[in-house]
Parts: sequence; C-alpha cells; structure tokens
Amino acid sequence: MQNYIHGAWRPSSATDFLTVVNPATGEELTRTPMSTPAEVDEAVRAAAAAFPAWRRVPVTDRVQYLFQLKTCLEEAFEELARTITLECGKTLAESRGELRRAIENVEVACGAPTLMQGYNSEDIARGIDEIMIRQPLGVCAIIAPFNFPAMIPFWFLPYAIATGNTVVVKPSERVPMTMQKVFGLLESLDLPPGVVNLINGGPDVVNALCDHPTVRAVSFVGSSTVARHVYARAAASGKRVQCQGGAKNPVVILPDADLAAAAEIVADSAFGCAGQRCLAAAMAITVGEAGAAFTDAISQKAAARVTGDGLDERVQMGPVITPESRQRVERLIDRAIADGARPIVDGRNPAMPERLRGNFIRPTVISGLPFESEVARTEIFGPVLSLHHVDDIDAAIAIVNGGEYGNQASLFTTSGASARRFRYEAEVGNVGINVGVAAPMAFFPFSGARGSFFGDLHGQGRDAFEFFTQQKVVVERWPSHWSRRF
Ligand code: NAD
Repeated sequence: MQNYIHGAWRPSSATDFLTVVNPATGEELTRTPMSTPAEVDEAVRAAAAAFPAWRRVPVTDRVQYLFQLKTCLEEAFEELARTITLECGKTLAESRGELRRAIENVEVACGAPTLMQGYNSEDIARGIDEIMIRQPLGVCAIIAPFNFPAMIPFWFLPYAIATGNTVVVKPSERVPMTMQKVFGLLESLDLPPGVVNLINGGPDVVNALCDHPTVRAVSFVGSSTVARHVYARAAASGKRVQCQGGAKNPVVILPDADLAAAAEIVADSAFGCAGQRCLAAAMAITVGEAGAAFTDAISQKAAARVTGDGLDERVQMGPVITPESRQRVERLIDRAIADGARPIVDGRNPAMPERLRGNFIRPTVISGLPFESEVARTEIFGPVLSLHHVDDIDAAIAIVNGGEYGNQASLFTTSGASARRFRYEAEVGNVGINVGVAAPMAFFPFSGARGSFFGDLHGQGRDAFEFFTQQKVVVERWPSHWSRRF
C-alpha cells in the first residue's frame, strides 16, 4: 500500500506495518504502512500548496471532475465491491450497497454550484447592501473506520473538493485497499496535484493530522472513545471538527406491529454486515404481548441466516473483521450469560468449512440480559441481538433515551400516533419507523446525537456544504456621487 501525495504514488518510509488479512479465509492480503508524522506533513503541505489555485477554479468546472468520477466509479463498480468484501468481509450485496451510497454522495456534491450559494439583502440601511458568501476552508482531513471502506470517505471527500477545499484522506489501516483503488480512479481524472492526498497509517497519523497547524478541518468516523479524543485534540488547535462515534441501537416492537415483517427487518439490521454497522439493531425491546411471537420469529431468522465467505453470492452474513474482534464479541456473550442472560440462538464457535479460517460467529440472540449488566451498555459490534421486554411504550422510550448513545432508534407499529410520539421523543439522530437501518440518503445529513456524535454539522447533504465552507459577510456602500455619471 502506498501513499498518494501531490499527484504521485509514494512508498511510505514507515518501518512499522499492519498485516491486512481476509477476514473470511485468514489469507494475508497486503501490509499497511504506519506512515510517519513527517509524511503527514508532506501530504498536508501538498494539499496547502494546491489550495490557492483550486479555490479559484470555478465551481462549475470543479464539479466536472465529480461527473467524471461518477463514471469511473460505475465502471469499476464490481471490482471495488469485490475489494471491499475481500478486506472487510461483508457480503457482495452489502459491498454493492455501500458503493451505491458512495456514488450517490458524488452525485449530490455535483449540486455545489447551487448548494454552496450564499444569500443577500439590498438596502439593509439606505443605500447599503449586505451579502453572505461561502468560501472554502483550506486543507481538510478525513479519517475513516474499517466498516465502510468506500462509503464513509465519500460522506466528506466529494463535498470538500466541490466547495474548493483540498483533502488528506486517512483510511482505516485494517481496510486500506479500497481507498487505494479509489485513488487510482481519482488519479485518472487529472485533478491538479495536491487536491486529493492519501495517507495510510494508524493513531500516530490521526494525531499528527489533529495537531497540524495547516489543517483547517477534521471529519472523523469511528468508535466514540476515539471520536471524543479527536474532537478534543483537533478543536484544541482551533480546527473545525465533526466526529461521528459508536452506537447501541434499540428497536421497539409494539404489539400492533406486523411481527413477521418486523422480525425479517430487525434480523437484517442486527445481523447484516455481521452486526458491524453503526446503525445495527443491538437491542430489541418488545412491548406487551409482542414478546413471545417476536422472540420465535427473530430466533428462526437468526438460526436460518447463511454465514460464510461474502464473495459467495448465496451467503447472507460474513465474518467479523479480526480474530481479536471475534474473541471480544464472544467474551461479551460469555459475560452476558454470566450476568444472567439466556442464549436462545448461540453463534459462538461455529463449525465452518476448512477453507474458511476466518473470524466467524453466527447470529446470536440472547434474552434476559439485566440492564445493570455492563454488556447492556456496551457496543458489541458483532451479530448479537439482546431481547428485552417491557409493559408499555413509556418504558420502551425511557430505555431508548436512557443509554449513552444516540445514533439510531426504530419503532415497529401500525399506529400513526405511536409512530409520531416515538419520532418526537426519541433522543437519537436517526429514527426508523418500520425501518431497521435508517441510513440517511446522501442528500440528508447522516445524523447522530448524544454519545454518538461530537460536533454541530454532520456528514452528507446540506450539512456537508455548511461544514466545508466558511461564511463571509460583506456590507457594501456605493454612493452614486462617487461615480461619474454616464
Ligand atoms: P476506531 O475508532 O477504532 O478507528 C477509527 C479511526 O481512528 C481509524 O482510522 C483508526 O486508525 C483511528 N484510531 C484508532 N484508534 C485511535 C487512537 N487511539 N487515536 C487516534 N486515532 C485512532 O473505529 P473502527 O473500529 O475502525 O470502526 C468501528 C466504530 O466506528 C464503531 O464504534 C462504529 O459504531 C463506528 N462507526 C460510526 C459511524 C457513525 O456514523 N456514527 C459509522 C461507521 C462506524
């Protein structure tokens, strides 16, 4: 894996590497260099040098590169989807899904000529006009997690460059191959050197980006612990920062819900991407008599899910990302059981075919986990759903709002009044009504609240145009007696 700096591929001078392994087979794929702070500085300087000319390129011309990028991404679609599955483990259908959302962000960013417009008022006082214009910030850093190697950098990159900024992207060191391929496509666009830069590495690279005086903004997605750290560290050096963090997403099932449909949708949410989605359902809270029927239906869905190598089109769920991650998830299931939970469907230590030496856990459903257990508050980030039961919607909403995180909450019901109440009262950034993964389209912000988000403006959509521009207000007076009369 190489870095891409000032329009050229550069081997890193790193002495430390992380071996990247196919999570399904255990085969070594590549090695990620842990680039040094000096290399970060080189990438930031390249981006800074490119900025003055790039911001002067008319926005209508800047978006032409994005139209071309969309075509390149469509042409490379299947190859990119395969790469995501190889390094990340999700199924091909899931890889195609995230790639589609990545492309959709490019499409939305093509609206920059309209969407980055300011506004104005004539005669705010006699003969005086006032205008607000949006200008780019400068060098923007984009730091991504492992679970969406293609999509998440695209929550930021197309908007940043469409609005006239230059960028340094740091992918997750665990899945570096997808961005390497994407940068191959960016290279083919003949963007001015330095507009887009790629730097591989881990925490040292992140910290160097947070501290670098020339970086003006940081967009981060990852776990809440690191999100908090990045938010504080980058803000301390005066940067604009947006940090999307972890989650523990509840779904509430009312007795009037279509329980068969709810079980199908919640299973896709809890076990899709092997539970490694920040919008994955982690806790299902049944209300009243929904409990028994939903428990049966979800357990059947969990037990029937086909687990294996994501490259096999018949597979419905791949492995988790690393052996350490698998051990961690299994330890949390052990802990939940020690704390009083009962495994209804137990996915630990599954027997897999010889070729699949990866990090497999089958879907797991537990019930009776006490809310006091630490596991009930911990983001498991694996295919584990815990079932809880309460008597009424008040108790369910109290649980939704009682946790640390606020990424997503879903309600399953056929009652409009219950749906409206839930939408109104749930203290989360993304709400699903009869929807298990309420992933916002690219023209909406990817929201998030409380312990799941640190900042003001989110990724995607109009928020992205706001984040990547600073407002400048101009108050103008042009008295007519100063000008020659014609
Ligand atoms: P992570 O926090 O381990 O890593 C994210 C990025 O931070 C990586 O680029 C990594 O190199 C860097 N990093 C890791 N440790 C660091 C440290 N100590 N100091 C500085 N930088 C560090 O996250 P992950 O395991 O790659 O991704 C999974 C997490 O991301 C989950 O918690 C998931 O919920 C979250 N996530 C959130 C969203 C959202 O929109 N809210 C979306 C996707 C994933």
